[in-house]
Order: sequence, then structure tokens, then C-alpha cells
Amino acid sequence: MKVVVLGAGVVGSATAYMLAKDGYDVTVIDRCGRPGMETSFANGGLMTPSDASPWNSPGTVKRLGKMLFDSSSPLKINPGAVPSMVGWGFRFLANSTYDRHKSNMIAIIRLASLSLDTLRSIRETTRINYDQTTRGTMRVFPRGGRKSEFVQKCRDMQGWGVQFETLDQGQILEKEPCLGPVIDRYAGAVFFPNDESGDAHKFTNEMARLATELGAEFLMNTSVLRIDKASSTKISHVVTSQGDIRADAFVLSLGSYSPFLARPLGIKLPILPVKGYSVTVALNGWRGGPTRPVMDDGYHAMMVPMGDRLRMGGRAEFARYNTRVDAKEGWRVLNDVLKILPALASHIDADAVLNWSGLRPMTPGGPPLVGPTLYTNLFLNTGHGPLGWTMACGSAKLITDFITHGRVLNNRVDSANYAL
Ligand SMILES: Cc1cc2nc3c(=O)[nH]c(=O)nc-3n(C[C@H](O)[C@H](O)[C@H](O)COP(=O)(O)OP(=O)(O)OC[C@H]3O[C@@H](n4cnc5c(N)ncnc54)[C@H](O)[C@@H]3O)c2cc1C
Repeated sequence: MKVVVLGAGVVGSATAYMLAKDGYDVTVIDRCGRPGMETSFANGGLMTPSDASPWNSPGTVKRLGKMLFDSSSPLKINPGAVPSMVGWGFRFLANSTYDRHKSNMIAIIRLASLSLDTLRSIRETTRINYDQTTRGTMRVFPRGGRKSEFVQKCRDMQGWGVQFETLDQGQILEKEPCLGPVIDRYAGAVFFPNDESGDAHKFTNEMARLATELGAEFLMNTSVLRIDKASSTKISHVVTSQGDIRADAFVLSLGSYSPFLARPLGIKLPILPVKGYSVTVALNGWRGGPTRPVMDDGYHAMMVPMGDRLRMGGRAEFARYNTRVDAKEGWRVLNDVLKILPALASHIDADAVLNWSGLRPMTPGGPPLVGPTLYTNLFLNTGHGPLGWTMACGSAKLITDFITHGRVLNNRVDSANYAL
């Protein structure tokens, strides 16, 4: 049976691997020259079920107004993006009630945990390397910050399998001595022992390599122009810049661009691009930084070690499909990190700094769209928002189940939570 996967980001490439492993004849189509060149290129690299709380928690919505007018806020709305946000924005707010937020959070935790287990078993059997760390993640809180509120959220998540420990200053330093010069800033930290991290771009390319070894074909530099239907319930082929491609089943994994291909088929996908920035610096052997991802809740800054590099990030902007890399934003990210890790300054090679931006494909509730559509042979695996890598292997597994069995076999997740 031939399956065409549209998109070779982390989601499409993981899907291709899972399908190829199960014996499908897989073709992946992507407009870039290599897999993982758009949003999966230089994301935060966090593999964190602990980050499952959707952005529209009741508390966040109350703070939204203040955040939008605060120049140091991690969230910005570009006025030009407002008209495109109206319908999506109402749904975002509708999902911010206590009950909706909680059920979305549980759906994300379950998929993310399945994903992490799946990734670990892939890693064990294939020995892939993607500059991973498996030492947990740590979130540090400044004095007067929102540590107690966050710990309460962690207690809620603990009921669904997210383990955490609270740390005092001494325990923070035992784990991350590099925070010594600024330790007096902190009231404490929360440590998540099960979280991991790594380079999502390398991981995506490893997925593509393994899928190719199993017989999958990656058609790169090929744009998908249209999806054509044979009838009101069946897709016949996709029209691409390299000609028509037929298959028995199709998986839509085009990240923030999925809505453009779905809309002509009568499928409205509630996905909005949310821009984010990252900055990556080469460490050239310097060992003075963190040994695991550290997030500073006060500066909204994160530091993620990736082999001999350090990745930093921490902003979100509604700016439609603008992917322009704004060097000013990049420097803001870097400056926030330098307040936490001043020693980094003398190790930065200004000519080797990677300033990057990408578009998170966000749904209003948080969980991605994974499952069937009104066309019997078209499946969605898209809208993974700020946790696309974290959920990619899990949602690839669900889609493979849908294509093979018509339903999800794994009883850890309720597929209704990811339905359109
Ligand atoms: C700043 C930032 C930090 C992030 N940090 C994290 C993190 O720490 N952990 C985490 O889990 N997630 C993180 N994310 C989110 C994560 O990166 C995304 O959810 C994930 O990359 C989405 O993967 P995808 O495969 O759906 O989309 P993409 O990676 O964008 O892949 C879609 C693919 O479709 C292709 N495509 C699109 N349109 C067409 C077309 N018409 N024809 C052919 N090809 C097409 C593109 O070339 C692309 O390769 C972050 C995102 C950002 C922006």
C-alpha cells in the first residue's frame, strides 16, 4: 500500500519512519532541499512532557493584556496579524476555562509521554545520535516570581505522570554550578527528571535516513500545489511542481502551511503560525555552561546544551507568515541569557552565531490534529504548536494505527482529543 506524506519536518519524517517500519511503500514530498529545514530546523530542542500546559491557562489569559503592552514581554502581537487572528482567537479564549485547559493539558501529556517512550525505544534499537541530553530539565524562579503557582501546576500534572522535584539554591548549584554567580536571584527551581532534549533537525534527518533505509523515498525540492479528490470522500492524487503523485493514502504534515492545502477540500484547519526565535552559539570546547536545559522563568529565557553548542530562545509573536529573522530579537534572546550566564560572553564567536526564526503551527486548544478526515484516505498529522518535536513520535504512531487499523490501538491516549 502506497502512502504519501506531505511535509518532511519532524512530524512528517517521524511518520514516514513509522510507516516504512510497518511495511508501507512511503513517499515524502517537501519543498526544501533537505528534511527539517523549516520549523523543525532550530527549535528549542526540548523534549518536554512537563511543558504540556497550553498557553491559554486561565491565569495567562488574565495577564494577556498586560503582556501585550509590556516591551519586555515574551509575547507580541503584530497589528497586521490581528484580522487573521479573530476566529482563532475566540477559540483560544474559549479553551482557557479551567476544565478545557485541564483536559487539553492531559491530552498533551499523554501524547508527549507516549512520544518520549517511542523515541527512547527507537534510540535504543537504532543508536541514533542527535546531540541529546537525558538529564532532565530545570526551571529556575526569581525571588518574588511565580514559583508557588508553577509548583501547583506541577502537582496537577503529577497526577498524569509528570514527575518533578523542587530544588533550593544549594540543590540548584549541585546540578548546575554555572548558575553560581547569579544564584542569589533565585527563590528555587523545579526539576523534571524525565525530560530530554536534543537537536530536532538532526533527529528529523535521522528519521529520514532510517525511513530511506527501509525503502521510503524523499522527493525534495518539490512543492505540493494542490490535493485533488476522486470523489466527495476520496483523494486521488497530489499535484506537485514535479507532476502528479498518486497513492492509496495521504498524510498532511505541512506544519503552519497545512491549512492552505486543506481549505480547497472543504477542510478548515484552525492553525495559526506563531513566530519564535532561537540563537545558537558554538562553544568551541567551553564547558562552563549548563549540562541540561535550564529555563529562567523571570527572563523567559532558556539555555539548551546541544553537543558543543548552546541554543537559546524564548519569544512568541503573532506575525502571520513572516519568517524574517529579526537580528534585534535574536540579540534580546542572547542578552537575557547573558544575564544568567555572564561567562558565556567571552566565548561567543560573533561570526558563528545562528540567528533563526520559525513558525509554530498552533491550534487554539493546544493538542495537535491527528487522525482521519471526511476523505477516507486523507489523514491529518499537524498543528503541533510549541511541542512538535516532543509529540512527533507519538503522533506518528497514532497515524500509523489509523491507516492500518482505522483506529488507535494504544489505550494510553484517547484519539478523540486530537480530532478536528
Ligand atoms: C522558536 C521555536 C522553538 C520551539 N521549541 C520547541 C521545543 O523546544 N520542543 C518542541 O517539541 N517543539 C518546539 N517548537 C515547535 C516545533 O518546532 C514545531 O511544532 C515542529 O517543528 C513542527 O513540525 P512540523 O513537521 O509539523 O512542521 P515543519 O517542521 O514546519 O515541517 C513542515 C514541512 O512542510 C514543508 N512544506 C510546507 N508547505 C509545503 C508545500 N506546499 N509543498 C511542499 N512542502 C511544504 C516545509 O518545507 C516543511 O519542511 C518550537 C518552535 C519554535 C518556532
